[in-house]
Amino acid sequence: VIVGSHLLTNIGELTTNDPTFGDYSALGRLHDAAICFEDGYVVWAGPAGAAPAADEATDCAGAAVVPGFVDSHTHLVFAGDRLAEFTARAAGQPYDTGGIMDTVTATRAASSTELAEQARRRRAALRRSGATTVEVKSGYELTVEGERRLLEVAAHVGDEVTFLGAHVVPPDYATDREAYVELVAGEMLEACAPLAGWADVFCDRGAFTVGEARFILERARERGLGLRVHGNQRDDSGGVELAVELGAASVDHCSHVNDGDLEMLAASMTVATLLPGAEFSTGSSYPSGRRLLDAGVTVALATDCNPGTSYVTSMPFVIALAVREMGLSPDEALWAATRGGARALRRNDVGWLGVGARAHAVLLEVPAAAHLAYQPGSDHVARVFDGAS
Ligand SMILES: [Zn+2]
Repeated sequence: VIVGSHLLTNIGELTTNDPTFGDYSALGRLHDAAICFEDGYVVWAGPAGAAPAADEATDCAGAAVVPGFVDSHTHLVFAGDRLAEFTARAAGQPYDTGGIMDTVTATRAASSTELAEQARRRRAALRRSGATTVEVKSGYELTVEGERRLLEVAAHVGDEVTFLGAHVVPPDYATDREAYVELVAGEMLEACAPLAGWADVFCDRGAFTVGEARFILERARERGLGLRVHGNQRDDSGGVELAVELGAASVDHCSHVNDGDLEMLAASMTVATLLPGAEFSTGSSYPSGRRLLDAGVTVALATDCNPGTSYVTSMPFVIALAVREMGLSPDEALWAATRGGARALRRNDVGWLGVGARAHAVLLEVPAAAHLAYQPGSDHVARVFDGAS
């Protein structure tokens, strides 16, 4: 933890995501700026020429500073890989949720030490690319003890922890889905709720129906968990409608949304989280982020880091995809990857750099944040500030 004050000065472009700063846009942007952190929080931001004195100073040499990325959707705790499945898709085979069980088998066989070490490595990769807040889900054991074990690992690497016992119905319950739904909403939830802040359900073709998802999420809400939904990835599955109806913080994927969904989302507190790494990896068509934004929906961007459909540990790569493939402007994509992610996690302390926010920031090696989309595939992160170094 950084104690004392630290001034970042000579910032070419400072994005605060605080509309009271600079150009009064959502990005709250300042040029030739400085920002001062003290004891882990932002205490001042403004023109470099008016900066206060501080214990320590960093000259940013005209480079851009942005809020740390908020990755609100990951599945970091798993063992094994799904390279064979990816290769088969590259040869033309369509995505099928059945591959999740390959990861379940590998994860069940792995030791807790091994799982923790691998998850820690993925979390470190995310941080190197600028992610300072990361959500981590369970979902690759699908047993009471196993899901509990994954949440224990998730708590060590994640800032927000989500119980996803309802990822898919395991094959041993194929002839009695109802028994698995009862297990998740009963004994499994009982064991897992104390270790998680959120519950999530994969509500889609090949996973859980709207009725099953509602049953599980309502029980989770009774236990005090916040709600999230994997919805409308493969079909117009009703997941968006359910998420809004239950007041979920976020509905993730939204690859297939109808006009009714858009209207409902726009009038709600539910964020639509886009995961372009999944479309990239599965070779599916990208949903239009433009359409969501134009309808007034709050949009977040996340990696969905998982071994099957989005083995991605870079938020800048996600930003580049969203700009090129989903119709977001570079500024909209940056906001969605920072403040949008924070909204999706109902966090007001991260995703922005106004006074009072956490000192979670990324110093880039480029003069403007738009270069993240303009020069994709390169590492533009010079330094990550998150109080941990
Ligand atoms: Zn996911």
